[in-house]
Amino acid sequence: MLIEVAVNSAPGAIDKTLTYRVPPEMVQAVRVGSLVLVTLGKRPVTGLVVALSEEAKRAGLKEIRTVLEADFLPPQLVDLGRYLAERYFCPLAVALRVMLPPVTARRLERRWRWLPPAGEETAAALNLAAYLPPPAREIAACLAEAAAAGVSRMHKFGRGRELEHALAVLKNHGLIQEEWCWREVPGSRRSPWVVPRTGAAAALAAISRRAPRQAAMLKTLLEAGPQPASVLASGGSYAALHRLEQLGLVEFTLTPPAGAGGTDPRGLKHSNLVEAGETGNHGGAANVGAPLQLNSDQEQALQAIEGALGRGGTFLLHGVTGSGKTEVYLRATGVALARGYRALFLVPEHALIPQIVTRLRQNLGARVAVIHGDLSPGERAATWERVRRGEIQVVAGSRAALFAPLPALGLIVVDEEHAGSYKQDAAPRYDAREVAIKRGHLEGAVVVLGSATPSTETFYLARQGKINLLPLPRRVAGLNLPAVEIIDLREEYRAGHQGYLSRRLRREIDAVLAVGKQAILFLNRRGYAPHILCRNCGYVPVCRHCDVALTFHQEGTLRCHYCGYAEPAGSACPVCGGPLVHLGAGTQRVETEARALWPEARIIRADGDTTARKGRWEEIYRTFAGGGADILIGTQTITRGLDFPGVTLVGVVNADLSLYQPDFRARERTFQLLTQVAGRAGRKTPGKVIIQTYNPGDPAITLAAAQDYRRFYEQEIANRRAGGYPPFIKLVRIGFSGRDEAGVIAAAHELAGLIQRDAGGMTVLGPAPGFPVRVQDNYRWQLMLKVPNWSRKKERLAGCLAAYRLRQGLRLMVDVGPVNPW
Ligand code: ADP
Ligand code: ZN
Repeated sequence: MLIEVAVNSAPGAIDKTLTYRVPPEMVQAVRVGSLVLVTLGKRPVTGLVVALSEEAKRAGLKEIRTVLEADFLPPQLVDLGRYLAERYFCPLAVALRVMLPPVTARRLERRWRWLPPAGEETAAALNLAAYLPPPAREIAACLAEAAAAGVSRMHKFGRGRELEHALAVLKNHGLIQEEWCWREVPGSRRSPWVVPRTGAAAALAAISRRAPRQAAMLKTLLEAGPQPASVLASGGSYAALHRLEQLGLVEFTLTPPAGAGGTDPRGLKHSNLVEAGETGNHGGAANVGAPLQLNSDQEQALQAIEGALGRGGTFLLHGVTGSGKTEVYLRATGVALARGYRALFLVPEHALIPQIVTRLRQNLGARVAVIHGDLSPGERAATWERVRRGEIQVVAGSRAALFAPLPALGLIVVDEEHAGSYKQDAAPRYDAREVAIKRGHLEGAVVVLGSATPSTETFYLARQGKINLLPLPRRVAGLNLPAVEIIDLREEYRAGHQGYLSRRLRREIDAVLAVGKQAILFLNRRGYAPHILCRNCGYVPVCRHCDVALTFHQEGTLRCHYCGYAEPAGSACPVCGGPLVHLGAGTQRVETEARALWPEARIIRADGDTTARKGRWEEIYRTFAGGGADILIGTQTITRGLDFPGVTLVGVVNADLSLYQPDFRARERTFQLLTQVAGRAGRKTPGKVIIQTYNPGDPAITLAAAQDYRRFYEQEIANRRAGGYPPFIKLVRIGFSGRDEAGVIAAAHELAGLIQRDAGGMTVLGPAPGFPVRVQDNYRWQLMLKVPNWSRKKERLAGCLAAYRLRQGLRLMVDVGPVNPW
């Protein structure tokens, strides 16, 4: 038998496939998805079996050395890897990387096993070994006693050539046998648990004055029970935790204590389960309150999903914000688990994971594991193993969780399916929505995509009947839609009003502060000011490594938002000494303005700059949710999925920022963003949303204010059809980059010519410069292909790309269905 094996040729990376021969004695144990040990050059490396074939007369093929694990990766995931490779134009081995646990967390160990049976045969063998040279004799004695041992234990008898020679001699005499095995590297253990000790309750009052952090932790422990240390200390206060231990108020244990719950209503304590990788309801029974009575739309949706369990099917749950989608996902998950299936639950952002994990545990009592891109290799490997062994019922996480090796997968939920983060920006450049649907097909699982503002492509599929539409047209009783008001910024300007917050918005904030409620100000740009300019000579500071203007940050630096380069900002123009002015506003500038207007108010800012440190966003979230601040100013992160009961006002500082992106999805993004913002505000208490814009008549803005998805979709799909955009064609971006710009452009022209000649029937746009054209000293140019009849054309295109020889020193990137600008 021959097999095709994806191998690890570089440490930590599987990147190519090779063919090997399987010796007859191993044929039984080899199948698609087996992990095998092969020889590459002279090195032993691990590889994944991706295909089996009949023996062909081919000389010179190496044999595999051993089968490390016969059933390593479920074969459906190997098939899913093939799908990724084909659909997104990447090598199979690259596609498979997303399926596998990190190899660095496991280690290959070479061992030797003693062969003669104990008793007379062993005695005879040792007699024989007595005539062999010294290291072999000692090794034989050692192995005869230990049965098997790792090669490191032999080091006391000899090293290098001498040791290898002795082992070879014993092997040739049939006394020992070489083995390879897979060892988990220790040290990737999970965080210890923290348990309150007797006397903790009595001490609480005493420490609450002078040590509020310690008191808060203690309170959590007393109310919610034991917690993992990483969870309790999220926000970076291990010091406080250790102090509590010194005071004898808490203790650490390595195993989760029985009954450990963690029932924070806001779900934040679980945020670091994200770090810990795993969580389960250690208390056993589910903590179900009085179950909600589903309304008739929810009931219908649930029944459709339930009916498809075990058979498979794809659904789009389209419901306005607050229509009870999450409730439907949870019920469906509960039914799936009750029937013995396992489930995958995807959310678009890390910040949303804790909430859903809490609800899965509390409502369903499910054993949940979390997988996302920021787990350490050890955490990922440990979680992967547990998932594969079937110990986990639900895997929740970001797009990376989609490849979790869950056995008996019955349900895949993709929440907020419109989110751009479901598209991966590095190879394999997959779209998690498409892959979820494919995985559902392969495994017979039900796929539920859900959103208040589905992507135009997904809704089009639903309209065509390729996805079953499940509408939830009404809001859950008791939830209000906020009043939305659009402010025309042009009038502010004409009236001579200065500042980024309009007069109307200021008055509303005054009113909110007066009654002790909270406000959120949203602006999708961090930093202080995006443009800085010399009044005298027009000088604009740009990045040294990228062709983009630097953004001014208040702490006195100019930063590049592409590569992170920073330099100190002077107050005068470095060219002519003229005065520098700041144009436009980022979150820092809005913060400055707000602080000047409301010096008494407690204001916090959440954007890429303030939340870079791990756990910091959770801290901000907790502060704000707990009423510890009056105004929260932030970027995208703060708008999605999170509703705060105290918030009665949301201000969108500038709705035009996303409208003017040079991208055919700009309108759609603006509509989605504003609809989500409007849908979150004032859920429980009547609220208000103020949208500031220079384009008050733009349908993306007015229809979002009216929460009218259908009308927006009709306009958008008409635009797409007229302009020749997805879903009517397939977009493919081919990017070229390198240090030599002329070479980059020439290569792009060359491939464009090749495609036009050999593939034909598609529009080739470009070469056009990437945006920005230079990043980290690399020039980037791109071709954009608009391909009708994708399924028929893609072979042709793949052929062109395979035939194309890239020049030295250049890199090529192919992105099928690109979502983000390059
Ligand atoms: P969505 O995911 O569509 O934004 P959720 O499922 O989060 O909506 O529901 C919004 C709120 O309404 C939640 O607090 C939820 O508990 C509550 N809710 C959902 N369904 C019902 C129902 N049938 N009856 C009463 N409350 C409900
Ligand atoms: Zn830069």
